[in-house]
Parts: sequence; structure tokens; C-alpha cells
Amino acid sequence: MLRYDLHCHSTWSDGVLAPADVVRRAAERKVDVLALTDHDEMGGVAEARDAAADSGVKFVAGTEISVSYLTHTIHVLGLGVDADNPALLEGLKSVRHGRDDRARRMGESLAKAGIAGAYEGALTYAGNVSLLSRTHFARFLVERGHVHDTHACFKRFLVPGKPGYVEHVWADLPDAIGWIHGAGGLAVLAHPGRYRVTATGMRKLLDTFRDAGGDGIEIISSSHTPEQFGEYAALARVYGFMGSVGSDFHAPGESWLDLGDSPPLPEGVTPIWNDW
Ligand code: AMP
Ligand code: MN
Ligand code: MN
Ligand code: MN
Repeated sequence: MLRYDLHCHSTWSDGVLAPADVVRRAAERKVDVLALTDHDEMGGVAEARDAAADSGVKFVAGTEISVSYLTHTIHVLGLGVDADNPALLEGLKSVRHGRDDRARRMGESLAKAGIAGAYEGALTYAGNVSLLSRTHFARFLVERGHVHDTHACFKRFLVPGKPGYVEHVWADLPDAIGWIHGAGGLAVLAHPGRYRVTATGMRKLLDTFRDAGGDGIEIISSSHTPEQFGEYAALARVYGFMGSVGSDFHAPGESWLDLGDSPPLPEGVTPIWNDW
């Protein structure tokens, strides 16, 4: 059985490895099919594709689009997209636009809470100025000793209601799915278990995602517990979604699932790669 990992990040967003190094690590860890899915960005695709050809990994071009849904931010993966599609590239650019301003506001907000220089500090961790992410702030705040690890850092500083969090408007769901489909890809709701919604709220989200044309949901993810693998497999069957698998790798040692560590999809779920 082929080993799939369809969600990971490079230095083009908030990962710490260059695209070619992500691919080499995946190859060492016996991944057969890899999708690179940087946040709102596909600049790493060409390098990753070349490295994959050299290491015998089948490469899938992808991206993870930030979307505003009701009061939530959700993430939608585009898998198997044409990385040169003008409308998709334009769409991603529009989503990236505003990240720098948001990051400055995060810096100001942290300054008011007594932490100076966070914007400049976060920048030193970013490979790409137009893609400053909360992760870069977290790495800075941890390194400066304000908090002991990135998980605690998010809880204390970077989620709604905390000093480093500022509101931001991302893409519309129908737009994001339209860009992905227009570029020949499949739209997958990333790590549904991470969204803070009730059971009813989750059904509403899945209804909305399906009505907007969504193709699949991520079932195996480092954001899910093993119990959630089963829960989201059941929801995929009920809603008729295909299922996807991804470590959401950002950095060695940062999460319990490294590249290629994902268990297989539960029985009875159609894999997102069914027609590839
Ligand atoms: P942004 O797109 O700038 O809002 O940053 C979102 C990124 O922050 C996600 O892609 C994750 O990499 C990271 N992230 C979000 N929540 C957490 C958390 N609770 N612990 C660690 N990393 C997180
Ligand atoms: Mn990330
Ligand atoms: Mn995500
Ligand atoms: Mn991700």
C-alpha cells in the first residue's frame, strides 16, 4: 500500500525546511506520494517537484488556503492543482495581502502587553515577508523565554481574546473552492477537529462546505486524536466526502506526527487520491 502525506509546510510559509529538504525528509521516511501545502502560497512547488523527481517521490502540488467562515478561520487544502493557474495565483496573492499589516498589529498589541519588538522578532523567523504567520511569533516568543513551548504560546498569546491575537478577514469559502477547482484540484477541509464548534456547528460547517462544492475532509491529521480519526471517518461516510491524510509537518520534533507517520485511512472511506 502506498504511503500518502498530503499536508506539509516549507519555508515558503511557516515550515522550517526548504521545499527540497521537506521532500528529502519525506523520501527518507518512506513517503510515496507527497503534497506540499504552504499557507496561501505555492512558491515552493517548483523546487519541491524537482527534488521529488530526484528522490522517486510522486509529487502533488498543493496549498492551504485561509478562509473566514462565520466567526471562524478555517483552512481549505487545494490538492492536485495546476500551480501555474493564473486565477488561483491571483487568489492566493489576495489572501496573502494584509498579512504584513496584521503582523504589525499583532506586534503593537503584544507591545501593549509588555512584549516589545515582536514584529521584528517574528520577521527574523520568516522566510517570506508576505507570509508572516502566528507561528513565527510563537517561535520568537518561545525563544525569548516568554513561554516554554509553542503550544502554550498559542494558548497564552495567539488565540482570540489573547494579547497577540488580532481579527483578520481571509478568503470567502466559495471563492477558495472556486480557485481550487478552476486549477483542476480537489478541495479538502483541513483538520476539522481543530475548529471550536459544537456538534451542531460541525454539521453546519460540513453542510456549508459540501454545498460550496468541497470534495473531501482531512481525517488523519496531527491536529486530531486517534478517536477523532474514527469520528471524522464516520462523518465523511455520512456526508459523502472523500478522506485525506496529512501530517501537517512544519518542523522536525514539533508534533507527534512526522512526515510519513500517518496511519492509513479507516475502512470504508474513499481516499481523496481515488482518481489520481
Ligand atoms: P496564521 O495563518 O498566521 O493564523 O497561523 C496559523 C498557524 O499557526 C497554523 O497553520 C499552525 O501552524 C499554527 N497554529 C495554530 N494553532 C496552533 C496551536 N494551538 N499550537 C501550535 N501551532 C498552532
Ligand atoms: Mn502552519
Ligand atoms: Mn491548518
Ligand atoms: Mn497546515
